[in-house]
Amino acid sequence: MAIAEFLHNPAVGVGTTGITILLGTLIGGVTFSGSFVAFAKLQELMTGDPITYPGQNAVNAVLFVGTLAVGAGALGAFGAEPTTMFYVFTAAALVLGVLLVIPIGGADMPVVISLLNSYSGLAAAAAGFVIGNMVLIISGALVGASGLILTKLMCKGMNRSLANVAFGAFGGSAKVDRSQIGKRPVRSADAETVAAELGYANSVIVVPGYGLAVAQAQHELKKIADLLEERGVDVKFAIHPVAGRMPGHMNVLLAEADVPYDKLYDLDEINNDFPNTDVVLVVGANDVVNPAARDPNSVIAGMPILDVDKARRVIVMKRSLSPGFAGIDNDLFYMDHTLMFFGDAKESMQELIKELRELP
Ligand code: NDP
Repeated sequence: MAIAEFLHNPAVGVGTTGITILLGTLIGGVTFSGSFVAFAKLQELMTGDPITYPGQNAVNAVLFVGTLAVGAGALGAFGAEPTTMFYVFTAAALVLGVLLVIPIGGADMPVVISLLNSYSGLAAAAAGFVIGNMVLIISGALVGASGLILTKLMCKGMNRSLANVAFGAFGGSAKVDRSQIGKRPVRSADAETVAAELGYANSVIVVPGYGLAVAQAQHELKKIADLLEERGVDVKFAIHPVAGRMPGHMNVLLAEADVPYDKLYDLDEINNDFPNTDVVLVVGANDVVNPAARDPNSVIAGMPILDVDKARRVIVMKRSLSPGFAGIDNDLFYMDHTLMFFGDAKESMQELIKELRELP
């Protein structure tokens, strides 16, 4: 909208409208191309690892200042031809979006996604100022503000400061050795064993992750929780703030299956309960329960995790020993008290429901 408005009146000059057009185009351009990079990373169309090079922040800063200078040119400074300068300005904003997102990798993407979400609101609000549309201004401001609040919450969830995010100086480039992933022996269990572990426990905490969404097994999971509660087992759900692939992903998924809200516990609320819990059922979660986060040299160092390894028994439902989004191995799978229940979460749960119904 800002671009169309400028092309409609290239001689807009310096003033509120001109500056708002530049602001809308800059934020919109960064959001647009940055979102494509984030999408490519999430879809694994490109490497999820941080792409870094020496002097990266300096290059970004120079490009940013250069973009502003070109923007000034588009508004008539330096006697340059406005339309050409505006095209260069738009292209620079798009390049800036790419350069700001490529250094972010591993488990840090949630923060970027919510920040880009917030930027999209700010771009819409700026466009609203340009065309004098109150609805766009208000809705854009609401999206921008709520996106910023969400970003702050995600920062807390990832243990990052907002300054880290704004200057793109995070993502860690620790070298990861992936050659040993899945090579160590694990204990695996079938549905009958898992049903007995769960059915005879006093307390069970379920930890859902991205794999639950992939398998669309939320209704089966609710059925299992109901069957366990009928047997007198205390069942709780532990929700990590960045589990899944978007903020609030697990809450939405479980709400869809009518899991009561008071059964869901945030990381802070439940982390102290794990040492006193009989069984933790990890369903398609990986990074959010990876003890590697406690290792300062890990790519996910400092990310708060659910301390499931402290429970008496851990059962992990997933298809293989493949890593999660951060691309690193998970020691949890190889621990003595962990049982791997391999298979698609939905199919495994259907078997589990059958076994639980037959359990004396
Ligand atoms: P992970 O991505 O760490 O792990 C998901 C696991 O699910 C995989 O290891 C996979 O193992 C398993 N899985 C996939 N499909 C199935 C299936 N059909 N049945 C059973 N298991 C399955 O997920 P987490 O939720 O633990 O962590 C989220 C990650 O995503 C974090 O690193 C977070 O930073 C990142 N992220 C989060 C965003 C957010 O806003 N929430 C946004 C962007 C990134 P296998 O292939 O062996 O089955």
